[in-house]
Amino acid sequence: MAEEKKRLIKKIQATSQMKKIMADYFYELDRASKEGSPPVAWCTSVGPGELLLSLGFLVYYPENHGAMLGTTRMANNYIPVANAIGYSPDICSYLTSDVGAFIKKETPLSLAYEGINEVPKPDVLVYNTNQCRDVQDWFSWYARELKVPTLGISTYRCIGNVSDYNLESITKQIKDLIPHLETISGNKFDIDKFREVLTRSYECTQLWKKVLETNMAVPAPMSFFDGTIQMGPAVVLRGTETAIEYYTLLLKELEEKVKNTEGAVDGEKFRLYWEGMPIWGKLRNLSEFFIELKTAVVASTYCNSWIFEAFDPEYPFMSLARAYTELFIVRDENFKEKYIEEMVHKYKLDGILFHDAKTCPNNSNNRYGMPERLQKRLNIPTLTINGDLNDLRCFSEEQAKTNIEAFVEQLEVV
Ligand code: SF4
Repeated sequence: MAEEKKRLIKKIQATSQMKKIMADYFYELDRASKEGSPPVAWCTSVGPGELLLSLGFLVYYPENHGAMLGTTRMANNYIPVANAIGYSPDICSYLTSDVGAFIKKETPLSLAYEGINEVPKPDVLVYNTNQCRDVQDWFSWYARELKVPTLGISTYRCIGNVSDYNLESITKQIKDLIPHLETISGNKFDIDKFREVLTRSYECTQLWKKVLETNMAVPAPMSFFDGTIQMGPAVVLRGTETAIEYYTLLLKELEEKVKNTEGAVDGEKFRLYWEGMPIWGKLRNLSEFFIELKTAVVASTYCNSWIFEAFDPEYPFMSLARAYTELFIVRDENFKEKYIEEMVHKYKLDGILFHDAKTCPNNSNNRYGMPERLQKRLNIPTLTINGDLNDLRCFSEEQAKTNIEAFVEQLEVV
């Protein structure tokens, strides 16, 4: 039976190349950490990675490590360790699992990559609160623990239109980072290098967008669950040629699947939107379950969050500020509803699934009546499931599957 199930999820051939480039990325960081050069910066996932790369840092993303703790289901070993030093079980479970793993001196990196025994040591920690305040607290813990400088950008939240004063403030904050980063890295800021990195990041982001948009096809060639894995290079390697090459390869494969009407779900009957965080430890189970229901989860806010349309090397600072401020997570309810409405039409969706992640209110958009409003306005069914990104104690698989099954049955009669 297990063998039979295994075959339900269709292989994406490019994935083997992705595994290789991700391994190269982590080995390069590990070498730098052991040898003390080049300098290593830790950065939040939608933080100023491009600026750091242009200053010669290798960039490590703790949220990516948090997701690894989730997918390997190691997170629940470590969350209580962080709880024991006063970090509540109700705050971000990336934070608590990552800090707990650090205290225990363990990492999923050592299971995946022989010879890597710890996360790379940072020379600086750089956050952007555009997504939440938790990242600032997360990095501040490491700053105290490792006696490493922490720098940050404080971003506006819940904004409608991105205004000039929003952008001027963020631009100023980005520029203010430079003298500190020059001192830490020992490298002089070079505007041309910054422009080059932004150009590559833009190219990466456009390719990633095209990859996701192949799912406008019916049947969709890739599921949301595949997308959460395929987005790895867009998160940690944007700004490099490696990411561009990877998404060129992946796009070619997915376009071929579209040409051959080869869907990720055989006999695709329904198409859903996933709003909210993935449930990292249950990706495979949920992916298989939706395949059995002949239901394709074809689009998501989460995977779209690494599309940065605004990057423009002509206006490097302002465009970086804009790209990291006009994100979905930064915006108000009106913007978010309009955005999801566009997705509903663009991807020909039959329903919207909201994931209420217990420890991430920032990425749980069901809590202020949005599903009900969208359901009424767009005449589209919505479902909310309770769970969490990493803390599997907050997720009842049985309950979620019962609710999803009933939801899909409801789609049959709509
Ligand atoms: S947005 Fe949510 S998951 Fe991401 S760091 Fe913040 S609290 Fe954690």
